[in-house]
Amino acid sequence: MAYSVPHGSLGTIRHPMVWLRDQSFKEHMKPGKQSVSAEIITVGHELLQGNILNTNARFLGRELTGLGFTVKRQVSCPDQVTEIRDCLKEALGRSQLVILSGGLGPTPDDVTREGVASCFHVPLVLSEAQFARIKWFYKKFRRQSVPDLVREEALYPQNAVPLINRYGIALGFYLVVDTSLVVVLPGVPSELENMFHQLVRPLLRSRFGCFKRGLQLVVKMVGISEPEVMRRLGDRFVSPLFQFGIYPECGEITIRIRSHQPAILQSLIKKIKTLLDDFVYAYEDVSLGAVIGKILTRKKATLSVAESCTGGLLSSHITTIPGASRYFKGGLTAYANEVKKECLGISEVLLTRRGAVSQRVALEMAKKIRSKLKTTYGLGVTGIAGPSGGVRKKPVGLVYIALATPKKNHVWAHRFFGDRIQIQTRVVTQALEYLWREIR
Ligand code: ATP
Ligand code: MG
Repeated sequence: MAYSVPHGSLGTIRHPMVWLRDQSFKEHMKPGKQSVSAEIITVGHELLQGNILNTNARFLGRELTGLGFTVKRQVSCPDQVTEIRDCLKEALGRSQLVILSGGLGPTPDDVTREGVASCFHVPLVLSEAQFARIKWFYKKFRRQSVPDLVREEALYPQNAVPLINRYGIALGFYLVVDTSLVVVLPGVPSELENMFHQLVRPLLRSRFGCFKRGLQLVVKMVGISEPEVMRRLGDRFVSPLFQFGIYPECGEITIRIRSHQPAILQSLIKKIKTLLDDFVYAYEDVSLGAVIGKILTRKKATLSVAESCTGGLLSSHITTIPGASRYFKGGLTAYANEVKKECLGISEVLLTRRGAVSQRVALEMAKKIRSKLKTTYGLGVTGIAGPSGGVRKKPVGLVYIALATPKKNHVWAHRFFGDRIQIQTRVVTQALEYLWREIR
């Protein structure tokens, strides 16, 4: 139940002395000390049954790791008081920070606050501040008084401190338990994320002191396979002095390295630059589309695309980048031959002689879209994404990618593997890689 309200003051964190009293926490986060361990408990039947993707666990895992916590476990449990209570108890036996999300709504299936209260044998009490917000919201947007059921959402365990939710109805809260901190947030991702940034981060900062920052090295690459990256890095690259991870994803490779020592990361960056620089499009956590966007903006150049087998995915990738309107003029999904003919002006003869999936057609698509939309660069993509439609001469995965530029036009043939979505995603990455290599 999300709604937007004008930006006002932050939700008040009441009873701050509860957590300021215990300064011993801060010791754990000082540079050189072992980092604080954290666990994430996401609550909801629909998570366990696979009805929704657990993006809250991913968000919290990434944020907490970025802040210097060691995330030990992510657990999902059903909307049941006893399960929530047991999961929380177990997590508190291991970790100093436990974050729960979900199950704070008003309906009988939302029982997270009851589960947490039962863990500490305390009753629920009403947050007057959150209830006032709920009343205000109902008066302004619903023109009615607050239904009894909704009042539930302003309840919190008696030993907790409320975290006012400015982005929805359900109240969040936190508790200090011996040397541990428990934070409970709503399940709706936008509410959870906003509350995390605005209320939880400052709370973690006061609670655990200085965070270890900048101790992660991210390397993003295209045009190289995972085994080839490892071969180039050599057998002795990986060491117990740092945490190393390599993650391939549809045509891209990401390396993530963590260490407590900046000097180690600096020497690793140097090595990686020598061994892999030609494939690296960023030494930070950004997308290839964003890097291309920056270069095009800097060069005051523009881009257009004509795509067939990717059905708009290429345009979509480009336009997910904020500010894409500065350089992206438009894309045409030229799926049927009639569209290739009528909207792009590709000749019937060419389409019948060479076929829609051919080098010449890809090239024409790139050239025509570039001239029609008057852009600096034009990309053309045509191929067979499968699972049907392949023949011996033109099998599933055969794709032609063309790039029209002010000086020269290029076309490449590829045979991609995977299912329909994997092939489409790989084509998009490959097309963007060609553009990046041309303009970098
Ligand atoms: P509400 O007040 O809307 O009931 P809530 O705090 O009770 O919020 P849930 O009922 O658990 O939260 O979830 C509400 C919605 O938020 C879900 O239908 C789902 O779309 C989304 N959601 C919940 N948990 C997650 C999660 N871990 N990852 C992604 N989305 C989630
Ligand atoms: Mg709910």
